Amino acid sequence: MFFSLIGLIQFIKKQVFKDKILYSEYINLKVKHPKCQSCGMYLIDDDKFDKESNYCSNCYNTEGFIDKDISLSKFLEKIEEQLLLKGFKESEIKSRLKKVPNLMRWRKKFDWEKTTFQINQEK
Ligand SMILES: [Zn+2]
Repeated sequence: MFFSLIGLIQFIKKQVFKDKILYSEYINLKVKHPKCQSCGMYLIDDDKFDKESNYCSNCYNTEGFIDKDISLSKFLEKIEEQLLLKGFKESEIKSRLKKVPNLMRWRKKFDWEKTTFQINQEK
């Protein structure tokens, strides 16, 4: 009886946590972000930007992500190259790259089946 009660409490705790995460994901869908949630550029600077999206036209088109299977580290290299071409300062590039892993596309997802954090696989 005692142990089944503990089991029940654990189950409820897990459920509450799960609901919180689902809610925050739901909120994310509702929120319009000012920056592309893949590369971090301001969407207002993107003239081909689809207003319904949270991703810029360099990262996302009607078929999905343009570099669908790219790893985060490869993606960061790509952005760095682009910013260098555009003449950004080294310090500014660094601070931009630091923010990319926190964007929606790259944030760690919680896998409920394995109850473990699934990290973007490096290639
Ligand atoms: Zn982008």
